[in-house]
Amino acid sequence: MYLGLSGGIGCGKSTVAKMLFDLGAVVIDADAIAKEVLEPGQIGYENVIHKFGDGVLDTSGNIDRKKLAELVFQDAGQLSQLEEIVHPAVVARVAQIRESLPNTTTVVYDTPLLVEKQLQNQFDSVLMVFADLDIRKQRLVDRGLEMADIEARLANQVSDEQRAAVADFVIVNNGSLQELRDNVTKVWQQLSA
Ligand code: ATP
Repeated sequence: MYLGLSGGIGCGKSTVAKMLFDLGAVVIDADAIAKEVLEPGQIGYENVIHKFGDGVLDTSGNIDRKKLAELVFQDAGQLSQLEEIVHPAVVARVAQIRESLPNTTTVVYDTPLLVEKQLQNQFDSVLMVFADLDIRKQRLVDRGLEMADIEARLANQVSDEQRAAVADFVIVNNGSLQELRDNVTKVWQQLSA
């Protein structure tokens, strides 16, 4: 079973992923993989230096993600060149992880960009997490994020309707963590049935 997990910023994706892990799933964190493929020795690292030059390196020889982001976000052409490097490297790494696991494993792919990147057809099922906007903002403030940063990130989000349209399972995370765990367990039981 390959489950896509997504939702808007601060909805509780990571918390749901952790609960699914506790129930026995293997969780692949898309953001972590995108970072991993740019580490020294990885294919993405070599390709980024080849394409963007060693000006994107920090003094330790690692890719300076902030410098790279500044470079590509000013220029759509450069951004798509970076995506052409990162995307296949992520796909290959995810395939490698999945191939190393028994077929019976439930693998959860946790990605904020499932809808934006139209990944829904890759999965057997999609689980979308929702929470009311004010609750999400408050949880992110409690996590230490600045309100201006939260608003900026929220401005780039797809709508709840677009998310719901690709979902097989929906969890509304407006209540307690125990309530969330109960709902995650229900989804898990349906996946395992
Ligand atoms: P991001 O989009 O930033 O990656 P996310 O969707 O992964 O966020 P989480 O990090 O899981 O969301 O949750 C946001 C914050 O809210 C975390 O600090 C988490 O512990 C907290 N949280 C999530 N669900 C609940 C809940 N039901 N009750 C209380 N706190 C919660």
